[in-house]
Amino acid sequence: MTANQTKYVMALDLGTTGNRALIFNSSGNVVAQVYKEFTQHYPKPGWLEHDPNEIWQDTRTCMQQVLQENNINANEIAAIGLTVQRETCLLWDKTTGMPLHNAIVWQDRRTANMCRQLIEQGKAPEINERTGLVLDAYFSATKLAWLLDWVKRENPNINLDNVIAGTIDSWILWNLTGQQVHATDASNASRTMLMNISSQEWDKQLLDLFGIPAHMMPQIKNSIGWFGKTDPALLGLEIPITAIFGDQQAALFAHGCDRPGMLKCTYGTGCFLISQSGEQLTRSDNQLLSTVAWTQAANSHSSKTVNFALEGAMFTTGACIQWLRDGLQLIDSAPETEFLSQQVQDTNGVYFVPALSGLGAPHWDMSARGAFLGITGGVKREHMVRAVLESIAYQVKEVVVAMNKDGNNIELLKVDGGASQNNFLMQFQADVLGIPVERPAILDATAQGAAFGAGLGIGFWDDYAKLVKNRQVDRVFEPGADTVVAQTNFEKWIQAVERAKDWIE
Ligand code: ADP
Repeated sequence: MTANQTKYVMALDLGTTGNRALIFNSSGNVVAQVYKEFTQHYPKPGWLEHDPNEIWQDTRTCMQQVLQENNINANEIAAIGLTVQRETCLLWDKTTGMPLHNAIVWQDRRTANMCRQLIEQGKAPEINERTGLVLDAYFSATKLAWLLDWVKRENPNINLDNVIAGTIDSWILWNLTGQQVHATDASNASRTMLMNISSQEWDKQLLDLFGIPAHMMPQIKNSIGWFGKTDPALLGLEIPITAIFGDQQAALFAHGCDRPGMLKCTYGTGCFLISQSGEQLTRSDNQLLSTVAWTQAANSHSSKTVNFALEGAMFTTGACIQWLRDGLQLIDSAPETEFLSQQVQDTNGVYFVPALSGLGAPHWDMSARGAFLGITGGVKREHMVRAVLESIAYQVKEVVVAMNKDGNNIELLKVDGGASQNNFLMQFQADVLGIPVERPAILDATAQGAAFGAGLGIGFWDDYAKLVKNRQVDRVFEPGADTVVAQTNFEKWIQAVERAKDWIE
């Protein structure tokens, strides 16, 4: 069956908290989806691991279930697009197919000391020059170095020729293709701190610095392009895989942010504000990251086009809501935070610093930790919940300020992601920024980006601009009566952040 006889594109959105398979129709709308939340393993304070086998099993189950439950035949799927949580990485044995350790998640801080040593050795400027990134435990390089050390120590007889490495996209692609294809895309590779951002190739000097043998690394391919076909054992026939993006870059693509200055903010486990820089690599003076937005095959004069982006990454935002639910058991569900926050006029003087995994942009403080400040006897659960939501908006404001200092003039914030469903949070965001916040009808921009890329990659669609134009706006939140108070409180919150910094030795 050819691409034009097919009816759908499948997107696999493999996030930090859950995995999802979605089916998009020819208008670019979601017609079916299956989601499975998965286990977070916290072996020590500041550490976070995922079981790669659980991620793969759940991905497979979601794919099979979304077809079965909706009476969709696998031969109606034109292509699959994959988008994943970034930086999270693992090592596996290519002969057994088994991971050698759990995956180390992007939020994990176990390599903070390794980073500090590298900073002391003066390596940060060179790493920034080569990768566009700030030297931090967030990225994959030090995590892979830790994993490799662990494997050599715990399993000294292992044949390292059989060991291969990758971020979650590589692991899933390898499994989807029946263990045939070991590849990644440039947007995910740009988050490893091992890819040279100018050439989009693995950087020999950085591989040497972190002790990672080049043969372990996946091939870097275009984000929109041919990755391989699914193993027929999976869905009964082969389906092309024609797009891979990091989750934030996929959302940027879905929003239609393909020209310099266009930007979006995703509210998921963390918050990620990304601004398109076009085909020119730009660098920040305000602690933002330079990253690859996506690459794709070009026309006759060049082999590929590369789009770059500037990014402000805030590590734990939705994760703090999950912590209120699972860690503190202060709430039963994430959506409940909206109602609770509306029950009080303000936070009663409470400020929260969402540094559960240190602070990302614009502070980059691996030693910061979470804090509630300003608690007095009259403080109730509603105040604390509201303080957590407000802190998410304050963090985003800090990054908007940094982006503006870098020459942007942000007049409208386009949002998406799980926590952008929260009306209180979105209104407060508009108030504290003093600009409108625009929420689309489909909040799964990440999955939509992967679907758009895959459908365009296989020729199921041919007009990106039209797909983007078809997206509906759900609501625009305008700055309201509370703007002045919100902006005054922001200044106080900054002081709270200073107290939470530099906490861990
Ligand atoms: P990810 O892709 O990082 O897994 P999602 O975009 O799926 O994230 O969003 C999930 C996150 O959003 C969770 O951390 C959850 O706590 C938060 N979340 C979901 N719904 C709400 C809500 N109504 N209010 C606040 N936070 C929410």
